Amino acid sequence: MTTPDDETLIRARHRMLDSIEDDARDMAPLIGRAAFAPAVMAAMGAVPRHRFVPAGQGHRAYVNRPLPIGHGQTISQPTIVALMTDLLDLAPTHRVLEIGTGCGYQTAVLARLAARVFSVETIPRLSEAAAARLDDLGIVNVILRRGDGAEGWPSEAPFDRIIVTAAPERIPPPLIDQLAPGGRMVIPLGRPWERQWLTVGGKDSAGAFTTRRNLPVAFVPLV
Ligand code: SAH
Repeated sequence: MTTPDDETLIRARHRMLDSIEDDARDMAPLIGRAAFAPAVMAAMGAVPRHRFVPAGQGHRAYVNRPLPIGHGQTISQPTIVALMTDLLDLAPTHRVLEIGTGCGYQTAVLARLAARVFSVETIPRLSEAAAARLDDLGIVNVILRRGDGAEGWPSEAPFDRIIVTAAPERIPPPLIDQLAPGGRMVIPLGRPWERQWLTVGGKDSAGAFTTRRNLPVAFVPLV
C-alpha cells in the first residue's frame, strides 16, 4: 500500500520526467538528441530523489533544478543527471568510476544501469551520508571511497565508463589512463564561474583518446 504522501511524491516524480523530456527537446540542437534513452528515463523515474536532499527540502526534490546539499555543494539538476547518464551510454556489464559522489543521487541512477559503480568523494561527511542513503535503499553494487578523485581509483582500473560531477580545467591524466580501450568519459571542463563545457571523451580500441564538447554547463570546481 502506498500512503497519500507517497502518491504525491510519485506524481511529482512523473512531472520531473515530463520536464526532463521537454528540456531534451528544447536542447536537441546542442545535445545532439531530442530524447534520452528509455532505460535512462526509467532509472530517473525509479530513484527516489527526495531521499537524497537535506531534511526539510524533500518537497523541492522533484523541481527540475539543482539544490544545495550542504558543505557548499549541490545536487545536480535532474536534466543534467539524465543527460550525463545518457551520454555515458551504459551497459549492464559496465564498471563505472564516478568522481564527486555528493549526496549519491547520480550514483544511485548509475547503479541501476551498470554492473558496479566505484564513487570517490573528497568531503568525508558527504560520503558517509551518501553511503547511509544508498544502504537504506538496498543499493548494493556501489563502492564509495573518500579521497581526491583526480587520482581516480588505480587498484580498480580499468573502467568502462568514467563520470566526473565537478569541473577541473583539464582532464586529470590518471582518469584517461584508467579508462579502458573502447571506454567513454563524461566530464565538465572549465574554470569556476566561467564558461564550462560538458565534454565527452572516448578511447578507441588502440588506446587513442579524443574529446568533443556537448553543452555549456555550470558545475562546482573539482578541488
Ligand atoms: N553527483 C552529485 C553532484 C555532486 S556535486 C549529484 O548526484 O548530484 C560535486 C561533488 O564533487 C561535491 O560533492 C564535491 O565535494 C565533489 N568533489 C569536488 N572535488 C573533488 C575531488 N577532487 N575528488 C572527489 N570529489 C570531489
